[in-house]
Amino acid sequence: MSKAGHGEDEIIDRIQRRVPSSPGGALRLGIGDDAAVIRPRPGTEWALTSDQFLEGVHFLADAHPAEAIGYKGLARATSDLGAMGAKPRFFLLSLSLPVERTSAWLDRMTSGLARAARRFGLTLAGGDTARSTARHPGISLDFMVMGEIAAGRAVTRGGAKPGDAIFVSGRLGASQLGLELILRGIDRHRQWQPLLVPHFYPKLAIELGRWLAQRRLASAMMDISDGLSTDLHRLCRASHVGSRVHQHQLPGVTVPEGLRKLGLDAQSLALHGGEDYGLLFTVSKPNVASIPRAFGGLRLTRIGEIVPGSGVTLLADGVAAPLAPQGWDHFRPSR
Ligand code: ADP
Ligand code: MG
Repeated sequence: MSKAGHGEDEIIDRIQRRVPSSPGGALRLGIGDDAAVIRPRPGTEWALTSDQFLEGVHFLADAHPAEAIGYKGLARATSDLGAMGAKPRFFLLSLSLPVERTSAWLDRMTSGLARAARRFGLTLAGGDTARSTARHPGISLDFMVMGEIAAGRAVTRGGAKPGDAIFVSGRLGASQLGLELILRGIDRHRQWQPLLVPHFYPKLAIELGRWLAQRRLASAMMDISDGLSTDLHRLCRASHVGSRVHQHQLPGVTVPEGLRKLGLDAQSLALHGGEDYGLLFTVSKPNVASIPRAFGGLRLTRIGEIVPGSGVTLLADGVAAPLAPQGWDHFRPSR
């Protein structure tokens, strides 16, 4: 070990000691060899997804606590499995760290990661570790997550039909509200601290996704990672349909008076705010009665319906207007 940090094997050890990583079940061989080995159970399929979590792009190392970076990094990736209806099983972590992040910061990040892994039922099966340098600086976490699902049951974005009802889980805009506090530099104010929790530790709708998939209740499904306006456009495009959303039905976050004065508005947070990781799903008319008002503590809200055509129409105060995708897009010039 150098003065400033730890060597690669010590880093892997530190991660392995904290994060669930014992082989067993479908995982024949985990960390320690050249590759992990998985034996799928008969009748199952595997959903695979990867998600990068990069300093300066997805988080700020001074504003985001290390625990939250580990937790949220894994949650973001796992959310996509829930959106297919899969049960999260294993993940790989490719990590690049500057030397000064390989001690206390690494341990804190890893404890957040371990908490997420336990909560979502994930075992760490392997990964890769590299050192960041001046020419490739910053913290980078890349998660590859695998989930299991009964053959043929994965729910895609492409199955919505005109007449289907559109639902969302949870509240919309809560994570973005926390981010806005950080961007405005008021995230250290004591009174706003609770508003940061949904941004740092998003709740996932994994069980809901599995339940909808197992019962074939959702005709199309995806998670809301980039904001409703952006993600609903994606679902409509994949299903070759249009949609209508009723603004007064949106389950928006409550914005305290003191923040409304700063221009933070529940409606636009609900429409365009990213990173809530709730589920957006469509349900055919005969199945609507089977959707409860809440599932596992998450509120389920009907927000509109699928129509023939394309795009998203927003109905507000009796006026219908096209709703442009205004959520998060890495490659769109900033608004
Ligand atoms: P190789 O040099 O053959 O690619 P490594 O030395 O990178 O192997 O990795 C050794 C073992 O440690 C492998 O099983 C690998 O999956 C695991 N590993 C490496 N980095 C990580 C990490 N960040 N998290 C979890 N497992 C890791
Ligand atoms: Mg090798």
